[in-house]
Amino acid sequence: MKNIIIAIDGHSSCGKSTLARSLAEALNFTYISTGKMYRAVTLFFLENNIDYKQPVLVKAALDKIKIHFEDQGSTTFLNGKNVEAQLVESMVANNVSPVAALTPVREEMVRQQQEMGLAGGVVMDGRDIGTVVFPEAALKIFLTAEPDIRARRRYDELIGKGIETEFEAVKKNLTDRDLMDSTRENSPLKKAEDAVLIDNTNLSRKEQMAMVKVLALERMSA
Ligand code: C5P
Repeated sequence: MKNIIIAIDGHSSCGKSTLARSLAEALNFTYISTGKMYRAVTLFFLENNIDYKQPVLVKAALDKIKIHFEDQGSTTFLNGKNVEAQLVESMVANNVSPVAALTPVREEMVRQQQEMGLAGGVVMDGRDIGTVVFPEAALKIFLTAEPDIRARRRYDELIGKGIETEFEAVKKNLTDRDLMDSTRENSPLKKAEDAVLIDNTNLSRKEQMAMVKVLALERMSA
């Protein structure tokens, strides 16, 4: 069995991280959420009042940002501090797409992601993993679902975490981010030609996991 790289890309809130985390656990692989990395960079800019429209300030700030994961990828640390809870806050969610569109930010995050996945045995989720970060990944999945379903799932998740929010605001954040992510110049969100497309609007987590696990085991033994 090979220690392959599995890339899971797709629209916002279609269950990429849930799928990626369970798959990594089932295969004993490392799980890496690249969205959390862009969110952590955004949090740093917000906390330090850095005007991210100024390239010089962005470059200087990137040198001061160290991100790492613990607990099988489920806890994110920014400069040694656990910031997991802050990454889902609306201030971060509303600023992450413009931050993720900045060339120096992408260059640095892609470099770190390539380093993290170098040895294989990795499930990485994001927007450009199969197209830019690991174009040679042995398995690429592109996930999507209807916008209303995605907004409902994200809304339920936030409420479950005790974060007060409005359904319409959650939906607007998702559609705004998808639009920005897929129309940006630098590494836009798009399906890699050789990615397997899965629309999970009418699939349970279990059904989706079963489909992807079969594909993963096939590619691992190829
Ligand atoms: O996956 P998540 O929803 O946490 O990602 C947050 C945002 O980070 C996305 O809306 C997108 O703007 C950005 N992102 C990206 N490239 C990735 C992962 C996330 O641009 N590989």
